[in-house]
Amino acid sequence: MADPASVTLAMVENDVAVITFDAPNKGANVMSRAVLEQLDACLNQLEGRGNIAGLVIRSGKHGAFIAGADITEFAAAKDITKDQIVEMCTRGRKLLQRLSTAPYVTVAAIDGMALGGGAELSLWCDRRVMSTDRKAQLGFPEVKIGIYPGWGGTARAPRMVGLANAVELVCGGEAIDGTSAAAMGLADDVVPNERIQQAAIAIIRAEKQTGQYLRDRKEWSKPLPIDDTELGFLAVTANAFIQGQTKGNYPAPIAALNTMVGAARSDIDQACDAESRGMAELFGTPVNRSLINVFFLTERNKKDPGVDNPSVKPRPVKSVGIFGAGVMGAGIGAACVRRDIPVAITDAIAPALQKGVSGILEEVSFDKTTRGPDAKKALAKAPLVNATTLDGEIVACDLVIEAVVENPQVKKDLYARIESQLGPQTILATNTSTIPITRLADGLKHPERFCGIHFFNPVRQMPLVEVIRGPRTSDETVVTAVAFAKAIGKSPIVVNDGPGFLVNRLLLPYMNEALELLLEGAEIKQIDRAAKVFGMPMGPIALYDVVGLDTTLYAGKVMRDSFPDRVVESPLLPAMVQAGRLGQKSGVGFFAYKDKKGQGTPDPTLADVVRPLMRTKQTFTDEQVTARLFLPMVLEATRILDERVVRDPRDVDLGLIFGTGFPPFKGGLLYWADTVGAAKLVEMLKPLESLGARAKPTPRLLEMAKTKGRFYI
Ligand code: NAD
Repeated sequence: MADPASVTLAMVENDVAVITFDAPNKGANVMSRAVLEQLDACLNQLEGRGNIAGLVIRSGKHGAFIAGADITEFAAAKDITKDQIVEMCTRGRKLLQRLSTAPYVTVAAIDGMALGGGAELSLWCDRRVMSTDRKAQLGFPEVKIGIYPGWGGTARAPRMVGLANAVELVCGGEAIDGTSAAAMGLADDVVPNERIQQAAIAIIRAEKQTGQYLRDRKEWSKPLPIDDTELGFLAVTANAFIQGQTKGNYPAPIAALNTMVGAARSDIDQACDAESRGMAELFGTPVNRSLINVFFLTERNKKDPGVDNPSVKPRPVKSVGIFGAGVMGAGIGAACVRRDIPVAITDAIAPALQKGVSGILEEVSFDKTTRGPDAKKALAKAPLVNATTLDGEIVACDLVIEAVVENPQVKKDLYARIESQLGPQTILATNTSTIPITRLADGLKHPERFCGIHFFNPVRQMPLVEVIRGPRTSDETVVTAVAFAKAIGKSPIVVNDGPGFLVNRLLLPYMNEALELLLEGAEIKQIDRAAKVFGMPMGPIALYDVVGLDTTLYAGKVMRDSFPDRVVESPLLPAMVQAGRLGQKSGVGFFAYKDKKGQGTPDPTLADVVRPLMRTKQTFTDEQVTARLFLPMVLEATRILDERVVRDPRDVDLGLIFGTGFPPFKGGLLYWADTVGAAKLVEMLKPLESLGARAKPTPRLLEMAKTKGRFYI
């Protein structure tokens, strides 16, 4: 039950009421069942009053209007019947719909996130005022959890802003700011925060004079004014676009499109009814459940400080020093500067420093509309970048990140040179991708202030950061690294030191198995296709080329040294490297690349390297290939849990989704494994017995199979 004060009604002028959403002790307002009941009560109260010119709906939380329906209630209701889903949608929609038939003008004053149910509430109002603040956003993210707006959003939006705009908003799931909303006709005014209520009241007065809102109410209740040719064209083009984006794995955007197109000739009530019926087909489906799991994974991650002791607080990171201005150093620098954190950066080679700094400025000044650097933005950000050759200017920062070449001696020499110059609170972090933190910490005077902050390449695109703690890393260092990563917009996972940390350790069995399959006779096309059908963004063979075969050869050796019982050393990788086939960067790997970039094309000369190493010429079914690729990954995850590399199975899932693009519609590796079931996984592993240790069910999996155990508890 929500606190009684979540929704309150007050008169701000004789004839103007304000309903305020303000959930006590919460950062955001959500539309739980209890909150809807309170809104209903407020509207009843107002109706009994008479002589009201208008109602303003706003939030008591600046920056957060209404974040949407209560997803916890959604998750709890996933087993309800289709009729109950229709009833639930209809009830919520009819309540919000009252805002479009009230005997007064209704205006939503949006000065923060108005998402999902919050956006629908604002759409049922006659008018909307938005704040100029960048936090004021309006959007329908429902498709991201496998459903679509169910309180009339798909019916109301096309009638207000046209079908094409509505399709973009609802099927795309991205929120828009006040300026875009105004351009679309969704916001009627965009004003600074402090004037938002005043502007809403001014709209009420103007509408009372002109009566335009009454004419709009009538218009927006009718079928859409769109001819058959336009409707048909829009349906076909949008369908093709969405299919291209979702590859058939995410049904909600297509369902939303079909619902909107199908109801174009209907009045608003019929359109709403069709929406509710369509919602019943999406709600509670496996994809919906998986995506809700991903939603909870990200929410959990946002709240996780990185250690179990809540009394440990992060130190402020107001400046970042970076050693190494290569691919990663520049990427990390740009991520900081983008969030206005000043950076001091250096490199052992002057041209590398120059190139790194230009890269940072180019990235932070990138303009989406012109698709190029914006000189004004670059000038504004330039003072935040200090390209220096003086250690003193780097070590004076709150956090120093080392991103020099992957050579333990070079790294250790650097630490020996600078450690004594670091401030008493400064944290030293390494971006190493393979060298154990424990080994690098050896010899440090303050290993407690040392950790790994492992970014992924390209830093701009990859949300994951692994914060690696060594045995002597302090809790304070961990929470500071976690808070810093979040401050620059990343999702950090805390990982205990170990070979390959988390993501690379899980990725390696999958990558290795792809090479084994290839040498046993499977075609590259079949291997990559099986991974993509499973939902991976690219196949493992194509991934080798992107990462670089020299890099994977080295990473593979690290894993082989650590786990000789189960890691096979493929003869193919050294042969490829020896032949100069390093992947995209050398213009040829498993595929050939024009100008060392873009999509590769099959290369007939590959056979010269592969054929002499082939062991068998077997054929595989697609299911066999899928099992070979993904089951060893699950087994490795069970070992990771046994070794307590992460604190929760959910970290494995979030790490793989954000670090490798593991398909969100499967909910995460271990979430997916739970849906298959441990007993079934053991059965699926039986035909792989001949592969030895790497495909042998682990004691944890066998135990789970026996006790019907699950990874998620
Ligand atoms: P890079 O070769 O692009 O850049 C490294 C830079 O460090 C070079 O410009 C080099 O001149 C400079 N350098 C070398 N010794 C130095 C020293 N003593 N002081 C200052 N600068 C020095 O390499 P990168 O890809 O940016 O990798 C850097 C680190 O990040 C490595 O530890 C790597 O394992 C790790 N990493 C790389 C990736 C990736 O995909 N590239 C991903 C995650 C982590």
